[in-house]
Amino acid sequence: MKANRSRNTGPEIALRRELYRRGLRFRVHHAPVPSLRCRPDIVFTRQRLAVFVDGCFWHRCPEHAASPSRNRAYWEAKFQHNADRNRRHDRALAAAGWAVVRIWEHEATGDAVVRVMSALDELAQSEATQVTTSPFATSPPSSISTSLRPPTT
Ligand SMILES: [Zn+2]
Repeated sequence: MKANRSRNTGPEIALRRELYRRGLRFRVHHAPVPSLRCRPDIVFTRQRLAVFVDGCFWHRCPEHAASPSRNRAYWEAKFQHNADRNRRHDRALAAAGWAVVRIWEHEATGDAVVRVMSALDELAQSEATQVTTSPFATSPPSSISTSLRPPTT
C-alpha cells in the first residue's frame, strides 16, 4: 500500500534545518519501531521522540481542510484512512515508549521548533526524575506490556 504522505516538503526541510542549526541531531524517515511500518519525518532516537509534519490537505488540518467536490466518497475514504493510520501509529509508538509530536505543514517553523524542543525538554525531565521506572532506561519490549498502555485520547 502506498502511503500518500509526501516527504521532504518545504516546511519539513525548514524545520529540520532549524533544529540542526540549534545543535539537535536526529534521523530522517527512520523507523523507530522495526516491526511497525511507520517512518516519522524526524526521529530523535536517544530521546525517543517521533515528529511528523502532516500535510494540511491529506491530514485534514482544521484550517485548510478542503473537500474536493468530485468523487467525494473516494476522498472521504482516503482521509479517513489517513486519520486511522495516524491514530494507529501514535498508539503503537506510545506503546513502545515513544513520544509523538505532530506538526501541521502550515505551522510557522519557529513555532514548530518550540514544540519539538519543549517535548525534548519534557522527556529529559521525566527521564531525570524517574530513573528507576522510566521506559527510556530499557530497550522496547518485544510485546506490549501492560504498564506501557497508550494514552486514551
Ligand atoms: Zn493547515
